[in-house]
Amino acid sequence: MYQRALQGKEKAWGPDHTSTLSIINNLGNLYANQGKLVKAEQMYQRALRGYENACGLEHALTLDAMYNLGKVFKQRCYAAAKLSASIAVLAYVKYLAGLCIKFPSARLALFDDVGRAFVWIGDDAKSAAAFAHQLALNSSAYNAYCNGCGTNLTVNTSRLVCRVCEDSDLCRSCFDKLESNGLGDVSSSCQGHKFLDLGGVSIGRSPSTDDAIYRVSVEEWLKDIAL
Ligand SMILES: [Zn+2]
Ligand SMILES: [Zn+2]
Repeated sequence: MYQRALQGKEKAWGPDHTSTLSIINNLGNLYANQGKLVKAEQMYQRALRGYENACGLEHALTLDAMYNLGKVFKQRCYAAAKLSASIAVLAYVKYLAGLCIKFPSARLALFDDVGRAFVWIGDDAKSAAAFAHQLALNSSAYNAYCNGCGTNLTVNTSRLVCRVCEDSDLCRSCFDKLESNGLGDVSSSCQGHKFLDLGGVSIGRSPSTDDAIYRVSVEEWLKDIAL
């Protein structure tokens, strides 16, 4: 149905009209929901390019397509990690880093995906760096919540990142309960899973003095993983 609508819109409005792009984006959603990640990625890439041309980098429609694309990159990382295909995971980490470079406002969310991708392939140092950069962006709070108690994860609660699940974190206290089998149902899906412990990880950032230094280092870090 979308395909037919798309052909009609393309004919009537041209490929870069926002009505055409909205159909392309919806088609991406449809494929993503069906788990057809290759096709979803193609649609979101087209939508993103079109919105960039039609509306510019900062427009809400552009950012929406960018987040959709980032989500597919993350899912493709996860699928590749499950097959132990580290090289494929790294290829998608590069795409994610490329989005971070082009869309600085998306970094808080995308650093999370980069951090998890490195966790899944066992590169703890790079993963910890990604989460530390995320913390530095956001006043010592991760953009994430504990799957056990729902608390906002910060430097103070610590953060334990599940090495197995696509999207699971625990605070220190829930992790300790899980270890002693006391967490109940909430995170029983993580029973027996290994975690990366981010306790003590932070990149010092004093806003008055370190901003320039911090910005250089995060840009360099991104370029390094986007290579
Ligand atoms: Zn918790
Ligand atoms: Zn888990």
